Amino acid sequence: MKKLAIVGNGTAAITAVRELGRMDATIAMDVFSDEPYSYYPRPRIIDFLAGDVSIQDLIQYSPEWYEQYNAHLHLEEPVKQLDVDSMSLKTTAKRYHGYDRILVAVGSHPWIPPIHGADKKNVHTLRTLRDAATIRKGIETTNRQIIIGGGILGIEIAAALEKYGGNTLTISHIDTLLPKQLDSAASSVLLKRLNQLGLNILMNFECKRVLGDKEVEALESTTGDRVEGDMVIIATGVRPNIALAKTAGLGCNRGIVVDAHMQTSEKGCFAAGDCTEWQGVSWGIIPVALDTGKVAARNMVDLGGTHYNGTTPRNTLKVAGIDLTSIGEFNPVSPKFESVVQVDEKEGTYFKAVLKDHTVVGGIALGNRKVALKLQRLVSTGKRVERPFSDIFE
Ligand SMILES: Cc1cc2nc3c(=O)[nH]c(=O)nc-3n(C[C@H](O)[C@H](O)[C@H](O)COP(=O)(O)OP(=O)(O)OC[C@H]3O[C@@H](n4cnc5c(N)ncnc54)[C@H](O)[C@@H]3O)c2cc1C
Repeated sequence: MKKLAIVGNGTAAITAVRELGRMDATIAMDVFSDEPYSYYPRPRIIDFLAGDVSIQDLIQYSPEWYEQYNAHLHLEEPVKQLDVDSMSLKTTAKRYHGYDRILVAVGSHPWIPPIHGADKKNVHTLRTLRDAATIRKGIETTNRQIIIGGGILGIEIAAALEKYGGNTLTISHIDTLLPKQLDSAASSVLLKRLNQLGLNILMNFECKRVLGDKEVEALESTTGDRVEGDMVIIATGVRPNIALAKTAGLGCNRGIVVDAHMQTSEKGCFAAGDCTEWQGVSWGIIPVALDTGKVAARNMVDLGGTHYNGTTPRNTLKVAGIDLTSIGEFNPVSPKFESVVQVDEKEGTYFKAVLKDHTVVGGIALGNRKVALKLQRLVSTGKRVERPFSDIFE
């Protein structure tokens, strides 16, 4: 019987557990998590923040789910040390576990930009259910919550907190919302719709300092402007968790470096999800965690049998009432690409398809789910389309 260790209990880890259990029933797995809860999908933390669901509603797989795959879940037992030479790990419970193969799927952590005073009480980040519970509690005792970050997470947090009874202001350091998903024209359409929904958003405010004695009183920008607030949530991106891997001697850059089999620089040691770096890129999205979790699992059983060829990045924003999908190449600079755009300011819709040689390679669909699904289908199938390209949006 092979003994496998899985460090982490997020999307990449549970994808691997399922795949491994299905492939070989003789495998025994130990899954280590530093969280107190069994598996929950991280995007649904937003529903909890909005007060729509309880913690229990969010737990998707109980410990019994793991048992069906011959996996044992160790909650609140983070792995502190990996010894890849002796193929063993040590947890905070001071237990040593030997393994034949290991998967490191430890995710990422919120990145905090260099803001003076970001260590004050009432400055938060959001990554776990525990973070969400702390923020929700803070709503009851604060008057104005400032969200730093005009990306997907920042907007989702603002909408959720407004629903929960908060009074938010979201600030963006640049003049485009969701710069990783939208071009500036789409950002303007989105901004208008978010304002109509009652979200207060301030563009071009680069936060330099959190003001206040021990607690937050206001934020000051690099140009000396000031906004008042007594709670801050920083949503400015994530960085892969590499500390454990680095100390163990695994090759790391921004993330844990993996090859097309999701194997790290050490034989028998694999990595998947947010913590990885493949071909110089680290993502921080569910589709990559799903794909890499599966590829890692297959290669842990049959090395070389499955290759990772990359994931087409796609993002869907779930702010109340607004469907927004951004997929693949959405803002090309090269003249090899052709873009077709349709905007309806009154309806608040924005559609863009980016084509190369009559094939849709990316685009944006704001305000219409049907168009979003069509774009996704065209990108994933690579089906040839004929002129006029605007028919794509019909
Ligand atoms: C609020 C929120 C909303 C999101 N919404 C979306 C969305 O709409 N679409 C999308 O594509 N992505 C979204 N994401 C990002 C998405 O959740 C991540 O890409 C995904 O969870 C990555 O999965 P993972 O398994 O790699 O890492 P994670 O889900 O982070 O899981 C890693 C786990 O490992 C644990 N761990 C870390 N170190 C150790 C250790 N030493 N020992 C034991 N355990 C350890 C961590 O605590 C964590 O439980 C969202 C993220 C957040 C926080």
